[in-house]
Amino acid sequence: MDQTTLTPITVAHGDGIGPEIMEATLRIIKAAGARIQEETIEIGEKVYLRGNTAGIDPSAWESLRRTKVFLKAPITTPQGGGFKSLNVTTRKMLGLYANVRPCVSYAPYVATKHPVMDVVIIRENEEDLYAGIEHQQTPEVVQCLKVISRPGCEKIVRYAFEYARAYGRKKVTCFTKDNIMKQTDGLFHRVFDEIGAEYPELEKEHWIVDIGAAKLADTPEAFDVIVMPNLYGDILSDVAAQIAGSVGLAGSANIGEEVAMFEAIHGSAPRRAGQNLANPSGLLLGAVQMLIHINQPDVATAVHNAWLTTLEDGIHTYDIYKEGISTEKVGTQEFASAVIARLGKTPSKLKPVNYGASGSNTTIKVTLKPAAPVTMATVGVDIFLHHNDRDAQALGAKLQAISANGLALTMITNRGVKVYPDGMSETFCTDHWRCRYKTSDGSAVQYADIIALQHRIHEAGFSIIKTENLCTINGEVAFSAGQGA
Ligand code: NAD
Repeated sequence: MDQTTLTPITVAHGDGIGPEIMEATLRIIKAAGARIQEETIEIGEKVYLRGNTAGIDPSAWESLRRTKVFLKAPITTPQGGGFKSLNVTTRKMLGLYANVRPCVSYAPYVATKHPVMDVVIIRENEEDLYAGIEHQQTPEVVQCLKVISRPGCEKIVRYAFEYARAYGRKKVTCFTKDNIMKQTDGLFHRVFDEIGAEYPELEKEHWIVDIGAAKLADTPEAFDVIVMPNLYGDILSDVAAQIAGSVGLAGSANIGEEVAMFEAIHGSAPRRAGQNLANPSGLLLGAVQMLIHINQPDVATAVHNAWLTTLEDGIHTYDIYKEGISTEKVGTQEFASAVIARLGKTPSKLKPVNYGASGSNTTIKVTLKPAAPVTMATVGVDIFLHHNDRDAQALGAKLQAISANGLALTMITNRGVKVYPDGMSETFCTDHWRCRYKTSDGSAVQYADIIALQHRIHEAGFSIIKTENLCTINGEVAFSAGQGA
C-alpha cells in the first residue's frame, strides 16, 4: 500500500487483556483494508510503576498530538494513592469533550432483557464534578465543586444534535437534575432548549435524570440519542451497555476539536489476561468509530457487518456464549479469525450498517457561535465560616451586628438549609456556615465593600473559609435562593 495514503494513528496495547484484544482488533481492521500506519506508545501500569504518577510519558503525548488519533486498549491503574486517572487526564488535557457510547442489543444472539435497544449516550467529558476541585473546608465538611460552563454545554449539546443528524437518528433526549441544581444543570438544560431549536427535524425531550434513568433501565427502546452531563453519563452509559447485553461489547469514542481517542468501555480484566479468553468486540467497535472518524467509512462498514455476521453465526467468546444459541465457543484470536473470514458478508437477521463510501466523511465538527455580551453585577456575598458552636441564633445575632457599606446579613444556612432567621430547632447543624450579605435595595457593590465586610468579620474573631460573590446576569439573579433568602 502506498505509504502516503496511510493515516497515522497512535496505538497503546495497554495492560491485562489489552494486548490480546488489541492484536485481534488490528488484525481484523487491517484484513478489512484499513489504511493506517501505527505508532505504538506505552501507557499504564508499567509507566505508573516507573514512578510516573500520570501513567504516560512525554514522548507519548508528542505522538498523540501529532497523529491526533488514539486507539487505546484498557490499562490497569495500580492500587494505592497518588496515581492519577490516565483516562481523565487524557480527556481533559486533549480537550476530548464528547464521549460517544452506542449501546445496542443483539437479540437473540446475545442474551438481554431488552431485545430492541439501540441507544447512543453522548456524555460531556471535561466538566461537572470531574473538574477535580475538592477541598476539606472544616474538620466536618469536605466539598467538591461542580463546574459547568456555557461553552462546555454548547459544545456537547451541539455535538449530540449534529451526531443525530449525521446518523439519521430521530430524537435527542437530555437528562439533568435541574429541579435541584438550577444554576449548573439548569444551564445545561437551557442550552439544550436553545440549540435544539436549530434542529426542527429532530424530536427533543428532557427528563429529570432519576426518573429518566429508571425509564432507560426499564424501557430503553423509548430512547434514541441521549445527551447528559459528565457524572450522569458515566454511570448511565455503563448501565445502558450492561442492559444491552454485556459491557464487553460496547466501544467508545472520545472526541475533541483536534484529537480523538477510541477504546472499549470495559477495563483490563487482569484475571482473564494471557489466556486468549477475552472478547475483543468492545475495542473492535471503538476501532469502527475510529475508522469513521479518519474517513474510512467503507472499512468501518465492512468490519462492523462481518462482526455482526459472526455474532449471528453463533461464534461467541466465553462471556456471551450460551448453550442453545451459540454454535461454537472460541478464544480471542479464533474470534478475530472468524470475523476476518466473514469480511464482505452482511448479517441476515441483525440489522446491517452502512457508514457510506470513503469520502462521504461523517466526521462531526462543532463550532461555537460568538457569545452574546452579558452585563454582570455583584449584589452581595456569601461568606462561609468555620464555627464550632452549633447555636444558629447566637451566631446570627453576632453577625447581624456586623455590616459594611450597605451589606447586611440576610440569612445563614447550614448545608444549604436556612437556620437563621426563623430556623427550626430540629435542623442538624455542622461546623460549616454560609452567611449571606446583600444590599437592602439590591444595588450593586464593589469588591472593596466585600473586603471591608470580611475584614470586620475576621476582626470579630470569626474564621472565614471562603466567599462566593452573588451576581446578576443581565439583571437576572444568578445564584441559588437558599430557602427563602
Ligand atoms: P473490568 O471491566 O476490567 O472487568 C470486569 C469483569 O468484566 C472481568 O472480570 C471480566 O469478567 C469481564 N470482562 C471485562 N472485559 C471483558 C472482555 N473484553 N471479555 C470478557 N470479559 C470481560 O473491570 P475491573 O475489574 O473493575 O477493572 C480492572 C482494571 O481495569 C482496573 O485496574 C481498572 O482501573 C481498569 N479499568 C481501565 C479502564 C480503561 O483503561 N479504559 C476502564 C475501566 C477499568
